[in-house]
Amino acid sequence: MIVEMRRGATQEQVDAVVARARKHGFEVQLNIGTDKVVVAILGTDTGSTPTETFEVLPGVEAVTRIMRPYKLASREFKDEPTLVRIGDIIVGGPQIVVMAGPCSVESHEQLLATARHVTRVGARIVRGGAYKPRTSPFSFQGLGEEGLHLLKQVRDEVGVPVVTEITDPHYLDLVSAHVDLLQIGARNMQSYGLLRAVGQSGKPCILKRGLSATVTEWLQAADHVLAAGSAQVILCERGIRTFESATRNTLDLSAVAVAKLASHLPVVVDPSHATGRPDLVLPLSLAGVAVGADGLIVETHPNPEHALSDGPQSIPTAAFGEYAARVLELARWAGRSVT
Ligand code: PEP
Ligand code: MN
Repeated sequence: MIVEMRRGATQEQVDAVVARARKHGFEVQLNIGTDKVVVAILGTDTGSTPTETFEVLPGVEAVTRIMRPYKLASREFKDEPTLVRIGDIIVGGPQIVVMAGPCSVESHEQLLATARHVTRVGARIVRGGAYKPRTSPFSFQGLGEEGLHLLKQVRDEVGVPVVTEITDPHYLDLVSAHVDLLQIGARNMQSYGLLRAVGQSGKPCILKRGLSATVTEWLQAADHVLAAGSAQVILCERGIRTFESATRNTLDLSAVAVAKLASHLPVVVDPSHATGRPDLVLPLSLAGVAVGADGLIVETHPNPEHALSDGPQSIPTAAFGEYAARVLELARWAGRSVT
């Protein structure tokens, strides 16, 4: 249930709505907008509570029920776009934000060379996996803690924010201390304990869509992070499982457009995992920007044939300048600003 306060409602009036909700055993989330406050009343049994319970309180403009299965991620709760801040970078604003780097952190030399090059040609955030969720236990599992140290070192040397995947709540404090942005991988979209822990930490995160999750399930997963207290969630479409085998996954461009309409959260596209093919990374990046994505997260490696993970889908770092130039050109065409 959504309680919309009148413009100019006092803090006491908002507090009274919150107090009544809590008295009924509900949880509450506030959206303090530029001109009014919206209070979301959350719980398993809000359906049997009459809207009059809140309508009668002073300062209340309207009370409506959110009919969608996702609540806090919905435009009904918050229509203004959420801006996710990573240092001085904003995802969800007018600018298209390109994040790039290797699938896995392999060495200082590899990460530094990649970071220096991609930031010089337009990437704003550097990616690199330290804990890798691999389908086989016999594949490279990432450098773990050593990978985190390398991310932090390169972050400080280059002066660029870094993002890495968090696979387990157990590593949350450690990972958070080394990076600026957390990634929740496709395989973990429904690890609700992890989502809650990331939400409680307040650290900005990228929430990848699960391999066979519907848009509704994806937005419900975002609700888990938001309900735990963080407002800083970026959605990432990274391809879903379909019958098609020409690409590693199928990039669901409709989902990008649907998520932008249904939710206030920023959406980015990962064309690398979506296609599994370096020759499709550029065209699908352009398509992602054209349908409204707020950014891209792309795998690139100085030497893809020697990469320890996802080499076959990584674009060579030497080709990244040309890639970024084309993306930024399209971003301008789509009316988005670029630096
Ligand atoms: C990755 O970013 O390297 C990764 C494992 O992504 P996903 O969770 O989308 O498979
Ligand atoms: Mn990868």
